Amino acid sequence: MDEGAVRYTQAVLIDDSQTIHKGDFILQSGGEWRFSRGDEDVFETIDGKNRLITRSLQNWHTHLAMQLNARDFSDGLHLDEWLQKSIFPTEKNLDPQMCSIGVKAAAAEMIRNGCSFANDMYHFPEAIGPILEKAGLRGIVSGPITNWPPSDDAETGEAKRRLENLLNNQEKDSKVTYGVASHSVYTCSEETLLSGKELAQKYDSPLHIHVSETRKEVADCYKKHGLYPIEYLDKIDYFIENKVRCAHGSWVKKNEMRMLKKHLAKVIHCPSSNMKLACGGTLSLAAYNEAGVDVRIGTDGSASNGNGLNMLHEARTAILVQRHDHWNAAALTAKDAFKMATKGSLDWAAWNLDDIRMQPVGRSNNRHISNLIYNGAECLDLMVDGVFLRKNGETCSMDEKSIIQELNSAVNVYYDGVE
Ligand SMILES: [Zn+2]
Repeated sequence: MDEGAVRYTQAVLIDDSQTIHKGDFILQSGGEWRFSRGDEDVFETIDGKNRLITRSLQNWHTHLAMQLNARDFSDGLHLDEWLQKSIFPTEKNLDPQMCSIGVKAAAAEMIRNGCSFANDMYHFPEAIGPILEKAGLRGIVSGPITNWPPSDDAETGEAKRRLENLLNNQEKDSKVTYGVASHSVYTCSEETLLSGKELAQKYDSPLHIHVSETRKEVADCYKKHGLYPIEYLDKIDYFIENKVRCAHGSWVKKNEMRMLKKHLAKVIHCPSSNMKLACGGTLSLAAYNEAGVDVRIGTDGSASNGNGLNMLHEARTAILVQRHDHWNAAALTAKDAFKMATKGSLDWAAWNLDDIRMQPVGRSNNRHISNLIYNGAECLDLMVDGVFLRKNGETCSMDEKSIIQELNSAVNVYYDGVE
């Protein structure tokens, strides 16, 4: 018997190829599913009459601790001003304790929204990983090798020592693993970029970087090096095959897309962030698809998202911006956006079909994905590796109420001295 196996009766299940099934299902702890005969020995049987079961959402670009800066914080600023006037000054107040409070709030929000994985980039990864583990979530936590503030512990080499310790001691099959983050070409020197690469190479870990997010970044890079950011990264030999995750990739030429394909880099589409910070453009999915690049979806940090970690909203925004930018109503369908937003998931989310937003269900339940993506729904259950993090509409792996209180008190201290 699979100890974590659960039976859902009379439910609707959408599988990895987006095929709709109706009936009784066994969900196994390793992520497999099959139809139930009704006599299997299972951990639990759940009445699934009001449930749509899908793969859970996967968020490929986050700064989870930035729940501390979420919502109305620094609204109305362009990226450059937003970083210099608001984000970097508050990050001077950041410490592991503050970071863990922000990550707890982020983890609670992920669970509430049916998302089981975050590819995170932030300071103090030693404070982030344990919170995700305790919450039962999956994550790749990338710590900074950067010249980006706060730089005290970066300058002394302390941040690198702490990150190396995590990389050296991680268990490869753990749900939470560690990686290396180089913030961007505009905040990292060539030496810093390459020292991040060497560290990732040494421990066979992923590398996470913001690339070509704004025209200013691209123009400045061209002025300094005579190359576009991805050309520059290629020239300095930054890429490790199949290990680099590039967030944004908005202002990118076709030859750079081919470079990304050659290095098997993933690109993460963050449309809300690009629009909220008025970047004037976001990635062109059609061109990336033509180049054969693996594109995922990410919310970015809450403060630059609009204004949270809701991957259903992000998938919807991806659809709207791709269609709008390309004057093509078929540029990204709801089914394809859902596939992108759940790609690689081994976990399950069950959505409430009694939610008015999920009605009507259509002939043969054919409207579920459109309802979910365009209109949102309540996540009733989230199951990761055979464990319920949320069940019957209640988060069970974390105490959401105490997290809310802790976040509110922490934010008053965090903003101290910042306009
Ligand atoms: Zn980011």
